[in-house]
Amino acid sequence: MTNEEVANILDEIADLLDIRGEMSFKVQAYHRAANSIRSLREDINVLYKEGNLREVPAVGKGIAEKIVELLETGSLPYYEDLKEEIPPSLVELMRIPGLGPKKAKFLYDTLSITTIDELLEAARAHRLRGLRGMSAKTEENIITGIQQLRRARERILLFEAHPIAERFIENLRRQPFVERVDIAGSLRRMKETIGDIDLLAASYASHRVMDYFCHMPEVAQVLTKGDTKSSIIARNGLQIDLRVVSPDQYGAALQYFTGSKEHNIHLREIARKRSLKINEYGIFEMEMDRRIGGEKEREIYEVLGMSYIPPVLREDRGEIERGIEDSLPRLIQLEDVKGDLHVHSSWTDGLSKIGRIAEAAIELGYEYIAICDHAQQLKVAGGLSKKKLRAQIEEIMRLNEELDGITILCGIELNIDNDGKVDYEDEFLKELDIVVASIHGGFRQPKEQLTKRTLSAIYNEHIDVIGHPTGRILGRREPYAIDLKTVFKAAAETNTILELNSFPDRLDLNDIQLREAKEEYGIKFAINTDAHSAGQLAYIEYGVATAQRGWLEPEDVINTYPLNKLKEILK
Ligand SMILES: [Zn+2]
Ligand SMILES: [Zn+2]
Repeated sequence: MTNEEVANILDEIADLLDIRGEMSFKVQAYHRAANSIRSLREDINVLYKEGNLREVPAVGKGIAEKIVELLETGSLPYYEDLKEEIPPSLVELMRIPGLGPKKAKFLYDTLSITTIDELLEAARAHRLRGLRGMSAKTEENIITGIQQLRRARERILLFEAHPIAERFIENLRRQPFVERVDIAGSLRRMKETIGDIDLLAASYASHRVMDYFCHMPEVAQVLTKGDTKSSIIARNGLQIDLRVVSPDQYGAALQYFTGSKEHNIHLREIARKRSLKINEYGIFEMEMDRRIGGEKEREIYEVLGMSYIPPVLREDRGEIERGIEDSLPRLIQLEDVKGDLHVHSSWTDGLSKIGRIAEAAIELGYEYIAICDHAQQLKVAGGLSKKKLRAQIEEIMRLNEELDGITILCGIELNIDNDGKVDYEDEFLKELDIVVASIHGGFRQPKEQLTKRTLSAIYNEHIDVIGHPTGRILGRREPYAIDLKTVFKAAAETNTILELNSFPDRLDLNDIQLREAKEEYGIKFAINTDAHSAGQLAYIEYGVATAQRGWLEPEDVINTYPLNKLKEILK
């Protein structure tokens, strides 16, 4: 069993316990263990064999025993019994925005509803109104919630697709009959959500590539198998398409299959005006029908007379014009990032101790890291009282003396409450190196109120960064109603930094918002992970990709600055 499979089972146990009405600490224990296992770099089977399972953060004795059973026998009676007791399809039901475990269980108990289809039918037939706590409005919310969920399900997160695609690529690359292989499609463009995974290979023996691909151990089902294109369903349910072309066509094919469609249409128009033709086989002079390039992807752009356009920009949002002028942005790169300014520790709802986080930050080559745990208002996340925060600051100062090569900054993630107030008074905030403030509740409020709450944090002179500014959770929660233009204007006026939260299901602000904030308002950003374990610091990769899609350059992002320059910017 892989880490991911074990984590998925633990998550499902947590959800089933939640529906059953178990205490929230018990439910959370399973979710935390699942998250922790998912962010491990080591293989859980190896840890188990070496007797180190209990060292995995958040894996207590009881859960460890269950994992051992799973790894040894491949099944877990405790989990099977739970599924017997509660129909697992209820888990789907509780994911509908606005429904939750209690209502899902209630609908099962009263109307025997176990699937989304049954619920949709009941809501449309007005059979829910009149039940305890349910009105016509609830029915309406449930119907839109189901539509939202279904829309989201058609696409998967970048961060789910990326590691799987990488594994396929690595295996294919090792085969002697594969000359080249790359990710193509929206995944190469690092879009926040992906439909199917597209891979492209170059080979002189395409049938051998296809034989190998269709028999890889991670393949659950072969949909189609041909000499130039095959499609499979991987064991985790994702569809992967592989195309194989001859090596001399590889560059043109890679360009073609990377898209976007809009980018390619625009390129073809430009080609036509210059009596050229581009397609998946190459770039041609139209008159003589003579092929003049296509082995390397760069040639397509060169022949068209523009600078090479990185895949992350290929959306036809002005990159072609800028490519012709040779004035494309100098995109931020992963190596530019010098630290992470929003990380949670085991002092609140994080899994890792601060010392461990600092070690992971050193491994990433960082110069600094800011611990920004939750503040006292956020009780569900174990928010810190002032007294506890002071104790944390002492620990950080001690660690800073002990550790070489990294500076740990003392920070906090304040909660902006329904009236726009935050957890601590100004006097206290002054003592901290960095203050992030974010909204964690009241998402359904009207636009004016949500905007006002954010503005009052922006105008607080001790708040440096606004965290996850729109509150969206991909696939689960739409961004809340907020007037971003007003927020951008105020942030620009007060030099308040806006966060690009890199947590894989947040990516908040998104690419388009980032670009608008930068170009129209001159805003600066912090690309943070909001990591809740040391392993999650690696999520910065998805933040940087989103920043690139938002045309950001290193100067736009304060955590590319060296520590002394960063300190000048933080209020
Ligand atoms: Zn937060
Ligand atoms: Zn946070």
